[in-house]
Amino acid sequence: MNQLASIADTTAGQAELLGRYGDVMMNTFGAPKRVFVRGEGVHVWDADGKRYLDLLSGIAVNALGHAHPTVLAAITSQLSTLGHVSNFFATPSQIALAEKLAAIATVNSPELPAKVFFTNSGTEANEAAFKATRLTGRRRIVAMEGSFHGRTMGALAITSSEKYRKPFEPLPGDVVFVPFGDVEALRAAVDQTVAAVVLEPVQGENGVIPAPDGYLAAAREITTQQGALLWVDEVQTGMGRCGSWLAHTPSGITADLVTMAKGLGNGFPIGACIATGRAAELFTPGSHGTTFGGNPVAAIAGLAVFGVIERDGLLEHVTQAGEHLAEQVMALGHPAIKQVRGRGLLRGIVLADERAAATNEALLEAGFITNAPRSDVLRIAPPLITSSEQLDSFVSALPAALDAAAPSGNGRG
Ligand SMILES: *Cc1c(COP(=O)(O)O)cnc(C)c1O
Repeated sequence: MNQLASIADTTAGQAELLGRYGDVMMNTFGAPKRVFVRGEGVHVWDADGKRYLDLLSGIAVNALGHAHPTVLAAITSQLSTLGHVSNFFATPSQIALAEKLAAIATVNSPELPAKVFFTNSGTEANEAAFKATRLTGRRRIVAMEGSFHGRTMGALAITSSEKYRKPFEPLPGDVVFVPFGDVEALRAAVDQTVAAVVLEPVQGENGVIPAPDGYLAAAREITTQQGALLWVDEVQTGMGRCGSWLAHTPSGITADLVTMAKGLGNGFPIGACIATGRAAELFTPGSHGTTFGGNPVAAIAGLAVFGVIERDGLLEHVTQAGEHLAEQVMALGHPAIKQVRGRGLLRGIVLADERAAATNEALLEAGFITNAPRSDVLRIAPPLITSSEQLDSFVSALPAALDAAAPSGNGRG
């Protein structure tokens, strides 16, 4: 029996733990479907001992899967050497990680300076970027319909979902929304009063919707023309998830602001706001801050993830595995499957009807973790280390789950 058993009571069964959860946890997430007690590689185990293939990786977070030995060794070693010093002081791991992030944000213009502000989450990374835009002397933000940028008041102000926004209004103002992917609508909305345009290269929470070809380049051209910043939210798409370090750089552009979080620390909380060119000089002493952001343990986790992705050639693997998955899912020829969209290992399986939640439920019963960001879309965001064979085992299980989830009177065929 491990030490955790006495500290966190990991020996209790699932039914008991879920009852206690309901008594003490705020009901922000609804009832959890399972209680997990252990993870290794691409698998997790629930409190009753059942094993699952984790195809969601904690919402695109565990890029290297669970308990990756390199990440584990790096975190443990850093924690036993120096754990936290506050941002009154610097640490080598924080500086080294900032150098990595600055480099990936400027691959298309290596001569540009780039600077980093570390946070503990994606919403905080966006909050930092939002505040930076206010220091341009302009105020308006142009955001996208279907966007998701997080839950703090600032991040919510640029998130389009009425359901998330409405109860918390008034939110920080002067935000306008335009249809995602519509170049002419963007051109019409951006003038010299606009501080920034914010967009996701692939709208993950909206059902894995990639920006159309040419859209990012057009957004870069329009913002440059009007002197506005281009702010790309890579919280979900970054860190190799889509087959490149950042999902927007293959389009040849350099953004002024890039936000990251999810995959960066492999589950150890860390986020980053990276600013390039003139945007890198917007913050000055006192204009923003954080107690925990960029602490050496979080930073070393990020460095370890960088190191393993480079060492194991995972970017190429992600591209190949993602294409393989999309092909195999389409090859099922199942009438409930309309399309597979997305990039790399961030994929949305688009269904012909609204059976995504029920399919998700059936897959969980069968030992596969996915999720349903929309009623007709299943999201697959497995660890970047997932093999094609492991993806195939999911593809084999998918038809039965879709059939079990068929709306009554609308079964297979
Ligand atoms: C998850 C997500 C966020 C918010 O990140 P948190 O760490 O949950 O605060 C912001 N933007 C995008 C695109 C995301 O997917």
